[in-house]
Amino acid sequence: MTSSPMLVLFIGHGSPVVAISDNAVSRAWKAVVDALPRPKAILCVSAHWETRITAVTAMARPKTIHDFGRSLPAPLFDVQYPAPGDPALARRVAELLAPTPVALDETQWGLDHGTWSVLVHAYPEADVPVVQLGMNVDLSPAERFEIGRRLTPLRDEGVLILGSGNIVHNLGAMDFGNADRPPYDWATRFNDEIRGAILDDQPERAMGFARMTAEAPLAAPTPEHYWPLLYVLGARRPDDRVSLFNDRIEHGSLGMTSVLFEAA
Ligand code: ZN
Repeated sequence: MTSSPMLVLFIGHGSPVVAISDNAVSRAWKAVVDALPRPKAILCVSAHWETRITAVTAMARPKTIHDFGRSLPAPLFDVQYPAPGDPALARRVAELLAPTPVALDETQWGLDHGTWSVLVHAYPEADVPVVQLGMNVDLSPAERFEIGRRLTPLRDEGVLILGSGNIVHNLGAMDFGNADRPPYDWATRFNDEIRGAILDDQPERAMGFARMTAEAPLAAPTPEHYWPLLYVLGARRPDDRVSLFNDRIEHGSLGMTSVLFEAA
């Protein structure tokens, strides 16, 4: 047990290129964790690991996965994030989620760029053990929220619960060359609704995102970048302080809004 419960964090990770950039977004990732207690381990729910069963990485040495297209800059393919795994934490996650079956993955996955593009900035020494949680694609929003809720005890065990995705994520509509392009109206409306749900502590509004029938098909045309937020909201406690950072939409349709929950 630690005396101060760990925070819960949702990061809007944006483009993989942020991993090799020094900009306001990447500096905010570092500044946020620098102000907080150092975790014993990190459990990361990344938008980039979709599974058919809830899974956790359980190897001692997770590999760095370069899960993006060859059109991205060559230096991105050289990035290594050699943080150790934490097989004991993987088993603890399975224990907390029982009787839901959890696959302990010792060979297949590792750390994908949803995780390492953030952690290369937040914990550049790669000395905090990291476990990834795979998202079963068949779960409902409420079931994702429930997984987060059942993982809440990890906060008292020194584990940082991190969700890495994007609230607004439409690559097809993005203006790749212009980060400052004003957001589409539908992107702003969707982001504002979800921000409101977070700030007002109304997770059912966040779980019901698909009911925004004009906005959701554009803001979250595939939901996998939105899903990590639902796990994070599940791990929120009623008395947590909530704060937003990187709270903007870049390239017209890529929401960078990030959320910190910390014990009051
Ligand atoms: Zn992504």
